[in-house]
Formats: sequence, structure tokens, C-alpha cells
Amino acid sequence: YYNQNTFIYFNGSYIKAADATTDLYSQTLHYGYGVFEGIRSYKTVTGQTKIFKAEAHFERLRQSALALNLPYTYSVEELIEASYKVLALNDLQDAYIRPLVFAPANMSFAKNTVSHIAIEAWRMEPFLGNKMLRVVTSSFERPNPKAFHIHAKATGHYVNSILASQEAKQKGFDEALLLDMHGYIAEAPGANVFFEKNGTLFTPQLGNILPGITRATILDLCSELNIPVKETKLKLEDIYHADAAFFCGTAAEVIGIESLDNKPFTKPWAETISRLIQTSYKNLITENQKTILNEVLGTE
Ligand code: PMP
Repeated sequence: YYNQNTFIYFNGSYIKAADATTDLYSQTLHYGYGVFEGIRSYKTVTGQTKIFKAEAHFERLRQSALALNLPYTYSVEELIEASYKVLALNDLQDAYIRPLVFAPANMSFAKNTVSHIAIEAWRMEPFLGNKMLRVVTSSFERPNPKAFHIHAKATGHYVNSILASQEAKQKGFDEALLLDMHGYIAEAPGANVFFEKNGTLFTPQLGNILPGITRATILDLCSELNIPVKETKLKLEDIYHADAAFFCGTAAEVIGIESLDNKPFTKPWAETISRLIQTSYKNLITENQKTILNEVLGTE
């Protein structure tokens, strides 16, 4: 993630990652009481570096901090500017950007203390890879929204994600799918999920999931491309015989699911709407307008 020459943004300054310090007495370290974001930048078709959906991510960071009562004094604009500077200082174009807001060295985190903010960036391949995934339903449920602000991207929530991913891998699968406390399909440990059936896409409704920015982008794409999509409650038995399925997230991008609980999705990926969404998303992040049109018109 970093070496001796890596720069980060830390509380208003640009410093070497190796010189940054934190404190053993930070509440974030002890209790997972912090918030973060996962953002990507891309080299666009014109060669420029563009942070994808930068405003939406930094607005979600602010909302996450507000939900947790973490002191938060940063503007969206200053953090976007800082992120571009971190990319430039590290000579990065296709990168993952990780802002982290964490508690200072004060176990009580008394009023009037300010949070720390760090923005790091590193090169990252699609985090679930490029191959279709073999997915298993997790024995872990997503956290109950009555116990956590599940719409906030809080560091502590990711213990649940890590446990679910570890379990899936131990069982020989690529990734987990988690249900909510009522047994409805929720999301992956770090991505949202869509299913495709008879030309319509289905995705779990908001409420018990992280409101993914990629999910929202895909809903926009569906409306642009006239693809029918339903946000609804989904049970496993509703989707076991779907035509196709995919995970989506900033880090994962759009990645097809080969099988769920060893039940394959049978439609050839190349013939699915899901694949069209995957291509359209790829074009969108690199601002490749022309090929989206070609794809829709079937001229590619
Ligand atoms: N759900 C969870 C639990 C996640 O961690 C993520 C990644 N942030 C997502 C969904 C997808 O969100 P986004 O598209 O905003 O990256």
C-alpha cells in the first residue's frame, strides 16, 4: 500500500505516509468508531485523471460522520482537491483513494475535540478480480439497522464483512452474500448485488444495506438505457433460478456471479443485460461516451 516515497494528506498537510503517526489511545482503534470511504480514480480516454463520483463519496463521508456524531469540519471541495493532490504526489491515475476519519488520542472523545482525517491512495486491481465469482450465502447476517447506522460507512461494521469473506473463502468460494435479519438478501461484504430475470434487473431495496454509489450509478444507467429495474425485497428462492447476477461497488466495479450456493446462473454472460451494464459502467468511469452508444445501438 505504501513505501518510503508515498505521500498522504493528513489533517491539512501533505506528509510521507511513513512519517504519519496515530495513537494507541484513539477510540477508533479500540471500538471501531470511525468512518471512511472507498473511492476510485481513473485515467479517462482523454488521458486525464478523474475521481469517479467524488462529490457523492465525500458527501457520504460527511453523512457517515454525522450519523456517528464524529466531529467533522471538512468541505467536500477541500477533500476533493486534497485527493487530486495525493494522486499527483504519488504519480497515480488508476487508483483507489481511502479517506479515513478517526478519533484523536482521547478515550472519552470529549466535546470540542476534532477528528483526524487521512487520505491515502494506492494502485488497486478490481478487488474481487475479473473472473466470474462463485458465491455462497453467509452464515453471518448483516448488522441489524437498529443496532448500527447501517447507511454509514463506519470502520467497525467491517468486522462483519471480514468474518463473512473469511468464512466464504474457508469454504472454497470466492465471496459471500449476506442476508438481513429478516432473511432477505442484503449485500456482499463490500458490494451491492443485482439479479437479472427475464430482461428485468432486481436489487434489494434500501434500508438494510449500504446505499452504494455504484448501485445508484447502475440505477441511473438503467433509466438511461431503458432497462427495467426493481428495488425490492428478495429471498434466496426468488433468485436461485435467475438468469444472471452481479456484485457492484467502487472497488469491485461490476463483476458477474457464476453461481450462488453451487447453483449456476445459466444464461451465457455475453447475452445478459448484466454484461451490458458491466460494459456501460466501464465506459462511464473512463468517460468513453462513444462506446456506450455503440453498445446500445448494437454496432460494437
Ligand atoms: N456494501 C458494502 C457493505 C460496501 O462496503 C460497499 C463498498 N463501499 C458497497 C456496498 C458498495 O458501495 P459503493 O458502490 O459506494 O462503493
